[in-house]
Amino acid sequence: MEANEGGQVKTAFIGLGAMGYPIAGHIAKKFETLVYNRTFAKAQAHAAEFGSRAVGLEQTAEAQVLFTCVPISKDVDELARQLLPHLRSGAVWVDHTSGEPALAKETAALLATKGVTYLDAPLSGGVAGAKNAKATVMVGGDKAAFERVKPVMETYAAKIVQVGPLGAGHAVKAVNNALLAVNLWALSEGMVALVQQGVDAGLALEVINASSGRSNVSENLFGSRVVSRAFPNTFALGLLAKDLGIANQVFQEAGTPAPLLRQLREFFEIAKLEIGSTDVDHTAVARLLERWAGVEIH
Ligand code: NDP
Repeated sequence: MEANEGGQVKTAFIGLGAMGYPIAGHIAKKFETLVYNRTFAKAQAHAAEFGSRAVGLEQTAEAQVLFTCVPISKDVDELARQLLPHLRSGAVWVDHTSGEPALAKETAALLATKGVTYLDAPLSGGVAGAKNAKATVMVGGDKAAFERVKPVMETYAAKIVQVGPLGAGHAVKAVNNALLAVNLWALSEGMVALVQQGVDAGLALEVINASSGRSNVSENLFGSRVVSRAFPNTFALGLLAKDLGIANQVFQEAGTPAPLLRQLREFFEIAKLEIGSTDVDHTAVARLLERWAGVEIH
């Protein structure tokens, strides 16, 4: 990858949401970084905070490494189509969206017509991981392109693993988030039953977290979001439900049995309908189980 005149790689980041904003901030501290956001004021705020440069969408095509972190693969594909006439051969497009393997392959083929290599590279670790530069990145795609962009990823990630060919990153992310969802739903079911029987939620959690039923949900989410009643909105319910849809595509394509994880999608679709919003934090499913049980977890 050719460096720019300053001897550094020029990067561009598209999508300054809950994840993209802090991630692009870490990149901007080490690399020249152009930022674009649909709501432009966020790009201007980012430039003021991190020394990145807020630009129009077309100008992001000047970069040698382009990042996207937007809700769904369709958004990425539309951005790729809009940018296609302007892109430069040799660039690498790193997609941090939690997306669909099949559509990502189509986007990759489109970008390849301009000599641009696409990597699916979903993130994990939540907003806290993004802010603390401790994100996990799971990458699918060309190994040589991955090696070229890895130094940029190291500015915000503590764990970076190439998990396989194109689409493999999205597939691993979908399965990971299905596991997050199953733990969240299952712990909510268990806790409403315990609270209904007079058990203190905090004490139950303390014991579970020192026992074999613990998970990231029980250790890092449930106490601070549900038992505390804070429900801070950092990862939207709609995004997790979207990931379960992608997981179902992965199971479908694999043709392997997944009766539990496939069913989970239905649970979260019902949750979206019953809660009446996709914008609430994903931990709001606990509130739904509380409503069904007629108890509050605290
Ligand atoms: P947010 O909703 O906070 O941000 C989405 C970003 O994408 C915003 O910058 C938004 O712009 C932009 N955007 C939305 N639609 C379009 C579009 N059609 N074209 C261009 N830009 C668009 O999402 P997150 O940052 O939470 O999530 C981004 C991705 O990361 C998702 O795929 C999510 O599943 C994944 N993820 C999220 C995690 C989390 O904890 N939040 C953790 C790990 C992965 P605007 O400002 O104008 O709305």
